[in-house]
Amino acid sequence: MVGQSEPDPVVAGDVWRRGDEGYEAARQAAVWHQLKPNRYPDVIVRVKNEQDVVEAVRRARKEGLKVKARGGGHSMTASSVRDGLMIDFSEFCEYTIDPQARTATVTPSVTGDDFGAAVREHGLFFPGGHCPGVGLGGFLLQGGFGWNGQAMGMACSSVRAIDVVTADGELIHCDDTTNADYMWAARGSGSGFFGVVTRFYLDLHPLPASILSSLYAYPMDALDDVLPWFLETGPSLPRSVEPFLMCATPPGLDQRLLLVFAVSFTDTEQQGRDALAPFETCPAIDRALEHRYAKPASFDELYAFMSAAAVPGRYCVDGMWTHESPATLVPKFQELFDSFPNPKCHIGFYPWHDADVPNGAFSLQAPLYISPVAVWDDEKDDAHCIEWATGHMRRLEPYSVGIMLADENLVNRPAPFMAPQNLERLEQLRAKYDPSGLFHSYLLS
Ligand SMILES: Cc1cc2nc3c(=O)[nH]c(=O)nc-3n(C[C@H](O)[C@H](O)[C@H](O)COP(=O)(O)OP(=O)(O)OC[C@H]3O[C@@H](n4cnc5c(N)ncnc54)[C@H](O)[C@@H]3O)c2cc1C
Repeated sequence: MVGQSEPDPVVAGDVWRRGDEGYEAARQAAVWHQLKPNRYPDVIVRVKNEQDVVEAVRRARKEGLKVKARGGGHSMTASSVRDGLMIDFSEFCEYTIDPQARTATVTPSVTGDDFGAAVREHGLFFPGGHCPGVGLGGFLLQGGFGWNGQAMGMACSSVRAIDVVTADGELIHCDDTTNADYMWAARGSGSGFFGVVTRFYLDLHPLPASILSSLYAYPMDALDDVLPWFLETGPSLPRSVEPFLMCATPPGLDQRLLLVFAVSFTDTEQQGRDALAPFETCPAIDRALEHRYAKPASFDELYAFMSAAAVPGRYCVDGMWTHESPATLVPKFQELFDSFPNPKCHIGFYPWHDADVPNGAFSLQAPLYISPVAVWDDEKDDAHCIEWATGHMRRLEPYSVGIMLADENLVNRPAPFMAPQNLERLEQLRAKYDPSGLFHSYLLS
């Protein structure tokens, strides 16, 4: 427990009002990174069970407060911290696994890494987020780009049902036939969902028998050889491979590097080695400072690589989906590479195979996703670092079709995140199911 609150006569979990002892600690703990927003909920309810969520929504209605849920607290823009009543799931953290049926249930604050480890004990797999600590709540609602996502598709496609507390304060069960509008919206609307999900019902998948990874570290002066080759190679890779190119300064080094990391998920080791073979063809391969091809990889190792750049600090992330060719894109990125504010900042390039989401709001993707991640320590650098991530994406808007909600930065830069017809349907459903606007929607500038 972060602080003291008065025992509530109805809700089992803690309840803080503005000014209560412990309120500020609870507000700050709702956000994983150090840039805490200047937004203050009137009430924070740290729920312990479904009934607490129902009571919290009913209380908000009675008091005329808007409602926002906080799942795992990993939104980069702290989109769960708004005025009104925050429903904080951090102490309602439960999952169940049925290995025979290959199904599971999770509450929103369960993290992809904890859940993934439990599922793997049964020889099963779920495509959770790439870094430890990412809550499944917000991750699944925005679509979910998880491990082995190139083959599995969006993680929300493995959500078969949800329990939701509606704007009427009722707890309902939703799947593709019952309350199907909610199910559609929960597969991709992200922070714009018009309800509070209390539980997700998931399909699990067989654990791939072979997981291999390759890692190459190139010096920055190999950029002109590495970046175009990587962007050209990405679309031809099999779906069993997840490729990443990160431009980052690894912790402990004083040199920014181009890190090509690729993971294969296959039935046999030979298939994995074959799938990763294209990474051996980089024209700069002889200049690699580190060269590790097709080694068996544990999830601990995969998480360690992906989270190495997720160092403590203040964060601003933006991104772009693009269909543009490497020849067009590469010169446009020079300015971004030349203007890193500090060694904690990094840029990721992710080639992507389209994944349709049947019965889901998720609808915006492209063959390549690019994301600058600004990380810094000092408040005085806020404006400069936010502008680095945001401003370059604004500059490159002519080459972008939109953003991932995973990295939404709408509070600093509006950008498309869903096909127009899906956004229109979402807003029609919101008007139908939440006519008084009880639930906060997207955090816009
Ligand atoms: C280090 C790091 C790594 C990441 N890696 C990945 C990745 O590999 N793939 C990927 O797809 N994304 C990734 N993300 C993005 C992440 O999935 C999103 O930020 C996601 O929204 C986090 O969910 P959360 O529940 O932890 O966040 P929160 O901040 O708690 O919630 C995010 C949004 O979802 C809403 N929400 C959460 N729970 C509920 C609920 N129960 N009912 C209704 N609304 C709810 C909140 O109101 C809020 O608007 C990463 C983020 C970080 C910080």
